[in-house]
Order: sequence, then C-alpha cells, then structure tokens
Amino acid sequence: MKRAFAPLLLLTLLLTSCGSQAGPEPVSATEPVTGTVFAMDTVMDFTIYGEETLLAAAESRIHALEAKLSVTEESSEIYAINHNGSGHVSADTADLLDQALALCGQTGGALDLSIYPVVRAWGFTTGDYGVPETEELAELLAHVDYTKIDFDRKQSAVTLPPDMEIDLGSVAKGYTGDQILSLLREADVTSALLNLGGNVQALGSKPDGSPWRIGVQNPLGDGYIGVLEVTDQAVITSGGYERYFVEDGETYWHIIDPATGAPTHSGLISVTIIGGSGLMCDGLSTALFVMGLEDAAQFWRETGNFEAVFVTEDGQITITEGLTDRFSLADESPFDEVAVLYQE
Ligand code: ADP
Ligand code: MG
Repeated sequence: MKRAFAPLLLLTLLLTSCGSQAGPEPVSATEPVTGTVFAMDTVMDFTIYGEETLLAAAESRIHALEAKLSVTEESSEIYAINHNGSGHVSADTADLLDQALALCGQTGGALDLSIYPVVRAWGFTTGDYGVPETEELAELLAHVDYTKIDFDRKQSAVTLPPDMEIDLGSVAKGYTGDQILSLLREADVTSALLNLGGNVQALGSKPDGSPWRIGVQNPLGDGYIGVLEVTDQAVITSGGYERYFVEDGETYWHIIDPATGAPTHSGLISVTIIGGSGLMCDGLSTALFVMGLEDAAQFWRETGNFEAVFVTEDGQITITEGLTDRFSLADESPFDEVAVLYQE
C-alpha cells in the first residue's frame, strides 16, 4: 500500500502568505487569508479562501466560546457549575452539553464528562504530575458517572451530585471547529482549512476542487505516518504522545479509562476519526482510544457514520474500509503495512 504522493500541503507553509508590505492583498480565489490564534491551551491556524475580516470574526467566536467553556477560568459557566454544584448555561454550552452527553451514552461511558477530578488528580490540568494514591483514586472514581449529570434542557440548567465536577475538554475544540465552519459557510466561504491544535477541519475542497491532504501524525516520533484525502470533513486525533509524564519508567498519558481511573492501556497509541461533525470526531477519538481496537472496531461496525485510523503500540496501522482509497502511507512513515477493517 506504500506509494508516492505529492508534497503535503502543510498548514504552516501557508502562514507565510498573509499580509503584504504594500497594503491589503486583493481577495482572490487562489490566495487564502491565514492567521493564528492561541486559545483553549493550544495553537489554532486558519486558512480561509475569503475576506480578511473573517479571521477576526473567527477569533472573537473562539474567545467567546472559551470564556463559557473553560474549566479553569473563574468567570466561565463550567467553572460556576463545578463550584456551585449547579448553574444556568447559555445556548452554546447547552448545545455542546446536549451533544456531548449523547456521545457519553453512545460510547457506553468510555467518554465521561465527569472524569475531570480524576484527570486533575494525575496532574494533567495542574502540571503537578504524579500517580495518585489508590484510596484517593477510588474515592474520586466513586463520583464519576455522567448519567448523574442533571441537565434540564427547558430551563438550560445543570445540576451535579455532590463532589462531581465536569469538563468539556475532550469535545470543546471539535465543537469550536464546527462553530467556525458554520460562521464561514454563512459568509459564503466554500474552501477553508482549520487546524485547532491538531484537530483539522476542512470546509469544502481546495479551491481547485481537489481534496485537502491531511497528514496523520506519527505517535512514535516525528513526522507523519500517512496522508488522508478529505473534503468537507474533520480529521481528529487523540494520541498518548500529546500529554504524558514518565514515572519509574512507566508512561502515563492524559486519556483516562473511566472504568479504572488510570490512563488507558488498551494497546492503542493513537486514534484518528474522520467524519462530518468535529464534535463527534473529537469525542469519539477520545472514547475509541479508551475502548481499544477490538471494541472500537465493533463500535465502528454498529455506528457507521465515521472512518478511523488506529495505531497500536506493537506498530500496526489499521484503517476502516471507507479509507482504502483516501489513505496512503507517508514516505517517511516507519510503518510499511496497513490492515483494513471491513464491515463484514
Ligand atoms: P486533546 O485535548 O489532547 O486533543 P482529547 O480530545 O483526546 O485530547 O481530550 C483529552 C482530554 O479529555 C484530557 O486532557 C482530559 O481532560 C479529558 N479526558 C481524558 N479522558 C477522558 C474520558 N475518558 N472522557 C472524557 N474526557 C476525558
Ligand atoms: Mg477528543
């Protein structure tokens, strides 16, 4: 399956084309406007075939969402709910919560918005990394159960049981990407590429009509393992390499199995989900990472509205059937074989 491919269109390459000494560039179908925003603890890059003003519009939308969703900002809606045990939410947060809770249910709790105190105990939100005491974990885990989040949609009110705290971090970037894409669509943009800290979301195709080419990061080192061709889809990866610490020779990463309270040991080291909704892809990349390849394959067969690229720690790439014509191994890829999951 290894084959040559045209040079990768890297988002970073495009960043140099913005602005000009001689005044504003005329907007044309072939010259994108590009920009970078730092938000939600990550770097976000935009390539938009449209008006320059859309960058500012996208940026203010992102900051508005972050102000509502942040788990650490004291003025956010989520912070208020976590600290008061209940609170009202705006339309954005309600919409996100609604979709995210549906994903928690659909994944049988592999995704659980109430895992936050456990994530914090491992130091992933504080930077104070370490393996928590067994008793502390057991106590925290006793309060992890997304089914006990009381979300009153009519009143836009959320109530949590005592000692529960929630975090939308596993899905917030995907939701934000969806919101930016609808802002661009409303402005009649037909071609754009967003990279929200590794979450790539494409609007339409490239201006010449060819698909966007998105690199899938190598979870074992630098560079890419492969390239995906996509049009109008999100490509979202969860990887053990993104945030982790090492203690006594063991690696602990930021994706936690709600069944054990510990970083997942499912055999997977990265999961990339390709689909129409950024929020769904973001949530499923986390959830399928927790499930492991076997359960994730079963989930894909039963659900069927997304495709996936799995990488296991023993060095195997597995792609779902729908990607056979759209995934190719990168020249630099340390892998030389790809297994395919079929619907049966
Ligand atoms: P990233 O934010 O690095 O792109 P993900 O989208 O996979 O990665 O989200 C991981 C974040 O979600 C973690 O930092 C943690 O806060 C939270 N999280 C970890 N495990 C779970 C889980 N099982 N369910 C819900 N959220 C989780
Ligand atoms: Mg995610």
